[in-house]
This record gives sequence, structure tokens and C-alpha cells, in this order.
Amino acid sequence: MCGELRAEHAGQQVILMGWVNRRRDLGNVIFIDVRDRSGLTQLVFDKSDNAALHEKASNLRNEYVIAAIGKVRKRDDKTINRNIPTGEIEVVVTELKLLNESKQPPFLPGDPVLANEEMRLKYRYLDLRREPMQYNIELRHKVALAIRENLAAKGFFEIETPFMTRSTPEGARDYLVPSRVYPGEFYALPQSPQLFKQILMISGFDKYFQIVRCFRDEDLRADRQPEFTQIDLEMTFPQMDRVFEVVEGFLQACFKVAGFEIKPPFQRMSYDDSIRNYGIDKPDLRLPKLTDVRTAFTAEQLQTVQLNPELPVVAIRIPKIDELSRKERDDNRPLFGERKEARLVDDIKRLEKSFPEAVVKLREMAGAEAEDLLVLVGGPLQTEKIGLRADYGVFMAAGAFRVELARKYADRHMAFRQGGFHFTWVTDFPMFEYDETEKRWNPAHHPFTSPHERDMDKLESDPGAVRALAYDIVLNGTELGSGSIRIHRPDIQKQIFRALGMTDEEAKARFGFFLEALEYGTPPHGGIALGLDRIVMILAGAESLREVIPFPKTAKAVDLMVDAPTPVSEAQLKDLGIKVR
Ligand code: ASP
Repeated sequence: MCGELRAEHAGQQVILMGWVNRRRDLGNVIFIDVRDRSGLTQLVFDKSDNAALHEKASNLRNEYVIAAIGKVRKRDDKTINRNIPTGEIEVVVTELKLLNESKQPPFLPGDPVLANEEMRLKYRYLDLRREPMQYNIELRHKVALAIRENLAAKGFFEIETPFMTRSTPEGARDYLVPSRVYPGEFYALPQSPQLFKQILMISGFDKYFQIVRCFRDEDLRADRQPEFTQIDLEMTFPQMDRVFEVVEGFLQACFKVAGFEIKPPFQRMSYDDSIRNYGIDKPDLRLPKLTDVRTAFTAEQLQTVQLNPELPVVAIRIPKIDELSRKERDDNRPLFGERKEARLVDDIKRLEKSFPEAVVKLREMAGAEAEDLLVLVGGPLQTEKIGLRADYGVFMAAGAFRVELARKYADRHMAFRQGGFHFTWVTDFPMFEYDETEKRWNPAHHPFTSPHERDMDKLESDPGAVRALAYDIVLNGTELGSGSIRIHRPDIQKQIFRALGMTDEEAKARFGFFLEALEYGTPPHGGIALGLDRIVMILAGAESLREVIPFPKTAKAVDLMVDAPTPVSEAQLKDLGIKVR
């Protein structure tokens, strides 16, 4: 291949096929770099050796596809190119065949300046010819292969589940596929194979995995893809530890493929600790912890600055960026946003004037050094009773603000630039989340997640306090995946549906097939799903998922290359019994 020849091949006759990456015409000598996915080799056409061939080469243009036969020759020391692996040799061509021409491309794969993304996506085949994209797609292949090998060696079977199915509840909207044979009826594309993988456990396939496409019609957001790939797995009779071990094992294999060594077991943290220490359920362990400094103040002091003495006062410390000017503080306030569950106190100098001793104490508690920036987030004097625990509300407001600040000051904020992979498992998530607009409880993960046995008695009396056997795997503040130990008893499953405000009839209408399956000897089981695109993105050091998905959609869910979605013909609609309003 074009990237394989080295000095030791000098003297050999070779055939190379590929694309014209660049042509340099020096008059009597023409150099052509021929490229394939392995790299490129310099071809030489010397007029004095073969005028007809030289003439033929002079007609080659960028991205023409050629085949060349020639002899490998060592370059002189002066002309060695140390920047490419084939830089010590060139191939003196004796025969050349033009396999295909190319229109002048809108951008060249070898261009040092990147075309804009719209162009790149429209002409994706040209973009994919670029070396970084070839690397990313190869990496993706190797990562998937490593996962398959790793899991297969542990006795997992890769089993396919249907794409045309009925909706599965992961919280987003479904993509629907109309049935022509049953007008007015629809299949749904799976948001995840959740129920199928659980049914595979009931079917006795005790270890399942699948590298599987999932579809979620969620609101558009910068880096979200309507179809994405999950590493989905499920196993029977597992403790959480066993699931963790399996995931840590294949992640280690994935990272190794990209040349990184990671060392399981990863640390673990309860959801409660994660919220209290990081104000978020996907903690970035590189950032300093939050500290509740309420006890540095008296209740009266807190009241004078409009903070609720009953709630935490959370100190955010951003190392080594100094106190901010008044203007900078004003600029930052929108990052905190309008909140009713928390209040920001960002002028520590002023606070120090009123309560010097308290500030000395709080600095000490927060471990703040002279040049560290400190801001406080506390609760408002009046708190409304809401679904979210009021103290969590304060921690989470602080956590969100801290991430914004860390991002804003990333260049001065050492922690954020720090390398390395900091993994953690977050465990014991709450079972339910309160939906303020709908005024009801929703599953925090999905309704098949098992509650903690010792919280079962709170299902009706205090749903917000019920913890689930649910876990997330988090890397440097990014959630890589989530999973849970599932409910395997039909009575408990029904109880959960009821706690979610579903009548038995509604539950039966939506999940009857599954409730029935649970009645036939369901083993305890659990699993997880991790985002493959995200993992490859991190391993590739890429900035967006689109850099590691061969044919992605834009942030607006459009495929610019094939131009989808598009309207369809009247005849097609009629066939499906569909009328567009
Ligand atoms: N099906 C879940 C998801 O896609 C993951 C799991 O619970 O295994 O988020």
C-alpha cells in the first residue's frame, strides 16, 4: 500500500494504486504523491527517462485515481522527507494507468486548512479521505473490535434485537415507522434495546451484548446525534460489582487500542456524595471539591446577606485566578442565571468587610490560598417545597456555576487542562425525579430499574427519598454510560408503575408483553449501556461526535450529503395511508 514502503524496499518493483494527492511539476521532472488510507508515496516521472510517460503524468490532477508500476529508489540524503514514514524512498515509475478522473474537488483532502463543516458534511467522501478522519474511523473499528473480543472472551454473546419495534421508554421521543399493511399503525425505532435485552435474560442467554444503533428524537443540541451507537450489555445474577468489572475490563481494552493505559478498578461515589462534593451527578474529579462553609457564619450573619441559615452555603474555589473585578463579576452573573433555589454571593471582599472572622474561617474551610477565586452559593431565605431536596438544589446550582466558571477560565484554570483520565462510578441514584411542569414523578433512569430494598417502604410516602440500584460511569465530567440492576419481580414492577402514576390498565397496555414475560421465571439481572461515539471521540481527542461518526447528521438533525429528511411523494404517502397536515 502507499504508506508501506521503506528504505529496505529499495530495488524492488512495486504496484501502487491510489489517489493523486499532489503534483509538483519541475519541468523535466514531475513528482506525484499517490495516496491511500495507509499514507502516501512519492512517484517520479523523469522526461529524460521516458518522455511519453512524463507527458501522461503531466495530465494528472488532484484526486485522479491511478495505478503505477515502478521501482523503489532510495532518496539522496538531501531530499529525504523526515515528516512522512515513506520519506526515505520514492518510486521511479515505468508504467502508469489512469483508472479514473476527478472533478476539481471543492476542497482537497491534503489541504492544511480545514473546509467549513457544512462543506465537509456535504462532500463527506472527500472529507473522509483526510488523514485525521481515516485515523478516527480506523480507531473506531479497532475499539469496536477490542470490545467484541473482550466481551466474547468473557462468555458474552452478541445478539441482535429489532429496529422495527414498539416504543421503549428512555425518556425521549421515538422515531416512528408507518406500517403500510396496517394503515394508521406504526413501529418505533428503539431508543435502546432495553426490554429485548431483559427478555434475553429471561430467555436464558445469561450474558448479552450488542454494539447497537439507538434512535432518539430529542430536542436539537450542539453535539447530539439522533442516531448513535451504544455498547449495550446485560447479564443474569450480577451484583453491581460484576457489571463494573466487566465494563472496566473492556474500557481498559479500548483505551489500550488508542495507546492509553488506564488502571481499574475505578473509584466509586454515591450520588449523594457526588452532589455534595461536586454539585453534579457527573463529577469532574480534576476540579477541587465544593465545601459547605455554613458553619463559618452565624445564622444572623447569613440572614443579613439574604442566605438561608437552614441550607448549605457552598464555597466554589477556582485555584489561582484571583479575585475578579466588579465588571468581571457582573459578566459572570448570567452564567449563574436566574434561580429560585439558590443565591450567589460573589463579592467576598465586601463580605470580609462586614464579617472578617467568618471569612478567615471560610477560606480555611475551603482550603483557599491567596490567589484563589472564591464565590459562595447558598439558599434563598424563602424556599418553596419542591420535588428536589432544597439542599441538593443549592449544591447543584453551585456545581453548574462552577462548571461554567471552569470553562470560562479554562486557560488560567490549571485543573481543567490537566491531562489523564479520571473515572468514577456514581451509584445509588434517586429512583424518581420530580417533573415541575407535569407535577409528577418520573423515573430518573427508566422504570425497570430496581429500587434499593431498604427504601421500598418509601415508594408511596416519600418517592424522592427512594434510591435505585442505578449507576453511571463518568470520565472527566462526562457521562459515558448508565445502567442498573433491574426489577425481576412482576409485583414490584407493577408497584413501580403505580408509583409513576400509571394505572394497572395503562401499564398493561404499554408493557403487557413484558409484565407477562416477568411471570415466567425471571432471573435477577442487570446491565448497562455506554456511548461508543463518545468513547471514540475522547480516545481520538476529537472535539465533536461528528468527527468519529462516518456519516453523521448536523446539530439540526440533517444529513447534508444525502439531503435527509425530505418530503416524500403523494403516492408514497397514500400507500401508507398518511396525510400531512
Ligand atoms: N437502556 C439504558 C440506556 O440506554 C441503559 C441501561 O439501563 O442498560 O440508557
